[in-house]
Amino acid sequence: MFSNEQLNKFQSEETPFYYYDLSLLSATLKACTTASDKYGFHVHYALKANVDKRVLATIKSYNIGADCVSGGEVKRALEIGFNKNQIVFAGVGKSDAEINFGLDNDIFCFNVESIQELEVINELAAKKGKTAQVALRINPNVNAYTHKYITTGLEENKFGINQWEFDKVVTSLKSLPNIKCVGLHFHIGSQITDFNVFKSLCVKVNDIVKWFTDRGVAIKVINVGGGLGVDYYEPDSKSIVDFETYFKIFDSFLERTAQQEVHFELGRALVANSGALISKVLFVKNGQVTNFAILDAGMTELMRPALYQAYHKIQNISKSGNSVKSKNYDVVGPICESTDCFGKAVELPETQRGDLIAIRTAGAYGEVMASNYNLRNKVNVVYGE
Ligand SMILES: *Cc1c(COP(=O)(O)O)cnc(C)c1O
Repeated sequence: MFSNEQLNKFQSEETPFYYYDLSLLSATLKACTTASDKYGFHVHYALKANVDKRVLATIKSYNIGADCVSGGEVKRALEIGFNKNQIVFAGVGKSDAEINFGLDNDIFCFNVESIQELEVINELAAKKGKTAQVALRINPNVNAYTHKYITTGLEENKFGINQWEFDKVVTSLKSLPNIKCVGLHFHIGSQITDFNVFKSLCVKVNDIVKWFTDRGVAIKVINVGGGLGVDYYEPDSKSIVDFETYFKIFDSFLERTAQQEVHFELGRALVANSGALISKVLFVKNGQVTNFAILDAGMTELMRPALYQAYHKIQNISKSGNSVKSKNYDVVGPICESTDCFGKAVELPETQRGDLIAIRTAGAYGEVMASNYNLRNKVNVVYGE
């Protein structure tokens, strides 16, 4: 929950706005790097979760690398000062301009998702007289047991190179002089909360690394991606995820030599809980079946509920702590879409026009997905330190 000092600050700001708690962010980053350093693991931050400049600068200060999925993200990472040797560029559809941008800036590596992409990068690198470092993004066909819209590691998904193409990839690597393969990359999905999934991933990765090594492809980097989930139900008591257990699983189950580096690409787990969307109640409609609390924020500010039926904890922070009787509300936004709903039948203290509503755990895949649909204004940002 928020302190009185924070609430006073919120009252003086124009809503809606994203609130980023930079001290919780720092505590999260410290917990993560302390746990990963124990095993010498390398952590990259997946920029797509949140590209706020102060958030990024804070992340960079913990010597974390950058995992980018567009030329724009590579550019942002360079501007913030991420070390180019710690920038990786993934994505199933990189344009020539984006690949050239990565080559010009000598980023650490491209995570390559198909044989055709390998050929194109080779050609573009050759034109510049450069050698591009790549990691092969493998589709390991591991079920992440998460929402189907955020599963990426099954054969039915568009991402990565599938097992039946491995022989061709090896042949292709040997024939492309401007490509240097540094490793393998895996990323099987997002918001993974069942740690057994990561065990299964390790078992698959061990086999695949061995397969490539046996065929003369030296694997220096094993990049196991991200996907570590957060607790959207308990943003206060479980504000920092269990990084200790997470990294320990990889240490226990991932086979590797002393020369091999293990890389991680965490997005959500680093930033989600440090963010909240703060909004004001514009109107309350009491119905016979349903009551509606209509907010000044909508799916244009936070799209996750509309996009993949995501749950966010919703609190009336103007009324908390009081003994006001509670009621159920459908908490909705002002946008002309029926999916513009943050939560159905949410139990809140009796709510009035002007109350502040906090939508918690909105630091990941929140502000980055904002749109100006309905010609909405750009959402404001407020920081706590
Ligand atoms: C989105 C993404 C990540 C980060 O996923 P999280 O679930 O936010 O940890 C990591 N790697 C790649 C390639 C991604 O696309």
